[in-house]
Amino acid sequence: MFAMQMLLKAFRWVVKFLVRCIRAINRKKRYAIPFYSFIGYILLVTLIINFSGDPSYDKVVPNKRVNDVTALNPIQVGKEIQPASIEEIIQAIKSTTGPISIGGGRFSMGGQTGYENSLHIDMRKFNNVLNLDIEKKQVTVEPGIVWRDLQKVIDPHNLSIKIMQTYANFTVGGSVSVNCHGRYIGHGPIVSSVMQIKMINAYGEIIIASRTENPDVFAAAIGGYGGVGVIVEVTLQLADNVKVERHTALVNADDYNKFFDKNIRNDKNVVFQNGDLYPPDFDLINSVAWKATDKPLTDTVRVTPAGQKYWLEAKMMSLVSSGDIGKWIRKNILDPYLYSDEKVIWRNREASYDVQELEPASRKDETYVLQEYFIPVQNITSFIPKMKAIYDRYDVNVINVSLRHAYADEETYLSWAAQEVFAFVIYYKQGTDNKSCEQVRQWTVEMTDAILTENGRWYLPYQPHASVEQFQKGYAHADKYFAVKHRLDSTHRFTNKLLDKYNPHAQKRLEKTRETINGYYRDEAQSFLTVPEWYLVFNPKEYADFLEEGNNPSDFPFYASIDEYWSLYDRSMKLVSAGYEENEEYNTMLQVIGVSITMEYTAKMLYENTIGRVFSWFSNGINSDEEKIIIEAQRAYSDFIYDKAWYEFEFLPWIKQVWTTSNTSDSNWMRKIERKFFFTLEFSFKAAYAKLIELGAKASYEEPVTKIYLLISTADSLQTSNDFQIVHEEGDRKIISITRWGVFTKTISVLKDKNIDIIEIGGNDEIVVSVLADTNSKNVTNEGELLYTSRVVTKPNRIRQVYLVPVGRLLDFAKQLTRENGVEVEHVFDY
Ligand SMILES: Cc1cc2nc3c(=O)[nH]c(=O)nc-3n(C[C@H](O)[C@H](O)[C@H](O)COP(=O)(O)OP(=O)(O)OC[C@H]3O[C@@H](n4cnc5c(N)ncnc54)[C@H](O)[C@@H]3O)c2cc1C
Repeated sequence: MFAMQMLLKAFRWVVKFLVRCIRAINRKKRYAIPFYSFIGYILLVTLIINFSGDPSYDKVVPNKRVNDVTALNPIQVGKEIQPASIEEIIQAIKSTTGPISIGGGRFSMGGQTGYENSLHIDMRKFNNVLNLDIEKKQVTVEPGIVWRDLQKVIDPHNLSIKIMQTYANFTVGGSVSVNCHGRYIGHGPIVSSVMQIKMINAYGEIIIASRTENPDVFAAAIGGYGGVGVIVEVTLQLADNVKVERHTALVNADDYNKFFDKNIRNDKNVVFQNGDLYPPDFDLINSVAWKATDKPLTDTVRVTPAGQKYWLEAKMMSLVSSGDIGKWIRKNILDPYLYSDEKVIWRNREASYDVQELEPASRKDETYVLQEYFIPVQNITSFIPKMKAIYDRYDVNVINVSLRHAYADEETYLSWAAQEVFAFVIYYKQGTDNKSCEQVRQWTVEMTDAILTENGRWYLPYQPHASVEQFQKGYAHADKYFAVKHRLDSTHRFTNKLLDKYNPHAQKRLEKTRETINGYYRDEAQSFLTVPEWYLVFNPKEYADFLEEGNNPSDFPFYASIDEYWSLYDRSMKLVSAGYEENEEYNTMLQVIGVSITMEYTAKMLYENTIGRVFSWFSNGINSDEEKIIIEAQRAYSDFIYDKAWYEFEFLPWIKQVWTTSNTSDSNWMRKIERKFFFTLEFSFKAAYAKLIELGAKASYEEPVTKIYLLISTADSLQTSNDFQIVHEEGDRKIISITRWGVFTKTISVLKDKNIDIIEIGGNDEIVVSVLADTNSKNVTNEGELLYTSRVVTKPNRIRQVYLVPVGRLLDFAKQLTRENGVEVEHVFDY
């Protein structure tokens, strides 16, 4: 109410102030005329912006970003497929040559499911149960099936998954490929329950792997992060579904080993157990064990259904993550209350939690992330203080640490348990900005050192911050894994962010050099978004052409130019709206330059169609020397901005030149003077505005990257120059740099006659190209996808066609166009 009154008061004050100003202005005509003209002009600009553009354009570039649950790792893949059969997978592998990434439920948290420009195989539709052997208690499934769906099939037969994670949303393929574990007592990772897998390697061959058949493939593929091939079938040993009763106990961290030995390790009735180590003190553990029982059920649900609402859980998570008070409330009030009642439920019920219960309302500024450390059982008391010291030093917001037990896994090559361990599952909150991510990297590297001093390992489905040296120390059998990988995938096509970092074969690849080149990676969305900005280069060229052809400047289609800018803006924004991260800063810049150009062209349109037109009637058709210089100046400006920022152009010398030229032509003097004054006004205004923008640009923007980098393959020899250099080469494969903007487009038209395969440009696999063609020509090429057409406002018989072209087809695209009559590549938008 109070706020409302304040608002009303402020509004009244503003209205009063405006009325007073207007009264003051109205008292004198010499103020009133410019004032109302200015208001009229602003209104006209607003109306023009409102009515121009192409808001009905509805084409959208499909989303090819693979991300994970943290939303921290968006990766732009090249092509995504969702196979439903083995044949489709083989066909996809055989018909492509580039990198391949594989995705299951996409819950791993460090780019394990994606790789830039890769063929991404999304396994989630490959999800049938192929065989259920009730007698042997074994099941064979396609790997895209999630645990919950499998639980629904086996539960009626009173069977349970033997080993799985706490939540039931993961795919079987993803779980086997990280060699997951759960809270099960008497077991280790899932590998001990896998009987056999069927896999497809990089040559499209089917391989059966088990402990007796291709055992090295079995050891590499399980916990192999999709590096040796696509797992297409998994046979699992199952267990009985039993009723379980909850038992809790509060234990000091120092006594946990003793407690575990006495109460948990040797008790055959314990099915699940974990201990919650309470932050921020990390000195007290709440042991939660579920023991087989005959007692009557307190909850009859057999498998937790999907799609439940978890409002309360989300609120609790946000309370605990809010600070130390929240953590105190959890330890001293919430948990004692939540664990106070008796609970007897089905094993399948306890094994079918939904990750949705952890999901916050938004992950935009902050996100919840997991880490996991595997510490030999006897070392946990020496590890906990080291862990706490790092968290304290970096002020890490740890929400929960869950301790789980696992026996050694001596089967898999990337085994995380060389001996009996306790897994420390850390759930924490972090910011999503670069600074926060860098800080997480720093403390994770320190934590990894602490883990190594305890002879432990860390879990690989999370952010791969550990250095290559740390990885080699922790995962000592990784060489066996990479040897199998190299045998089954000699060109290392199966890859992702994790493998790319630690694969010694990848270290030697040319692709690795990309990360060391400043400015190598460009945002693919920019190829679409720079089209309107480039229109402010194309349009001045049209203006210069128009004047050179002897046309009356009053006839230049200023409104159509404004309309074309806003149409390109609307189309570009729509095109990138689903497939790319929003770039607010660039969008604002496009709006600012759009408003600037609208103001400039509206002023010119008003002038040229009134005073300018009246004076044009005096023109005798002969250009004065001054007018010739004006045309030269417009041409120089239009040429300049193809390669440099417009505000770097020297406007003032041209004004000087116009005023120091002595006219020798037989032109009309009135028209000449009018043109001189108008040009002086235009270029002086631009010179002042340019200074302003230059200052702003220098203060707020980083130095622009002037080179664009291409990964290519060619046996041809390439002539280098200042604008074209070979940065690295490895046989036929090379990374080359080309000066950006106008030079890049020209260079592409030179390279088209060479025998070159472009693999990527700026790390991207698609690029936008504009083509100028005759209006009646339809698609002038089949090498790219026509996104839209745009008017060449001064030439009704010409049209601009804007294409999206796979970079691998760019040279063929350019080649095809020059063969056609009257078609030319106008610009290649280098992001
Ligand atoms: C909330 C939460 C709780 C978790 N709890 C646990 C836990 O209790 N215990 C535990 O061990 N882990 C846990 N994890 C980690 C989890 O087990 C892994 O992230 C697992 O990979 C998730 O399975 P997914 O289907 O999402 O696999 P994805 O993340 O999609 O894939 C994981 C890896 O497997 C590969 N892959 C997937 N399918 C195939 C296939 N068919 N063939 C070859 N490679 C394939 C991918 O390329 C990738 O490298 C948890 C994660 C979250 C987010």
